[in-house]
Amino acid sequence: MKLGESGVATAMKNDKVVQLMHEKQQKPTKETKNDVFVSVVEELVGEDAVRVAIALSKRKEATDEEISQETGIKLNDVRKILYKLHNFNLATYRRIRDDNTGWFTYFWKINKERIYDLIKSRKKLVLEKLKERLEYEKSKMFFYCPNDGDTRLTFEEAMESSFKCPKCGNMLQHFDNSEIIKVLEEKIKELEKEINGTSS
Ligand SMILES: [Zn+2]
Repeated sequence: MKLGESGVATAMKNDKVVQLMHEKQQKPTKETKNDVFVSVVEELVGEDAVRVAIALSKRKEATDEEISQETGIKLNDVRKILYKLHNFNLATYRRIRDDNTGWFTYFWKINKERIYDLIKSRKKLVLEKLKERLEYEKSKMFFYCPNDGDTRLTFEEAMESSFKCPKCGNMLQHFDNSEIIKVLEEKIKELEKEINGTSS
């Protein structure tokens, strides 16, 4: 998947870069790993599924009733969510038949391998975007208006407006993006390490 320049700019706005700068202060922890897990489940199955998936991942196996009790989600809804998770291969089950009643009990389990695969491909996608963003940052010269800090223009855009701020008319100044480049490079290195499994 290849994003155009504007696509990259939209995907990674300045606030995203700021967010990255905050993130670099923290080492990757279990928390951030869980965040990826949560966003993968949320995106594929929905918000309610997150609670079910977390409850499941805490146990080796669980019945729908146990999950319902723990999450407070109605049994019927838990079942629907479990089947959806199953459709995405995010959860598996084994069933046992009661010889007396003939009813089946389902024991559900989160499919960790599948989650890891999804997390890995998510990281690869982020890595790709970061690399494109880095390329973008390196290949351009930027300008900004001291009065309107959130406005950043490329050289081409600045030239079009005769190096005057489109909002207030102030003279634009050169924007030093070396710190952004540094953060992006660090983040890329970190992600590459994670994807190659040299760091857990
Ligand atoms: Zn301005």
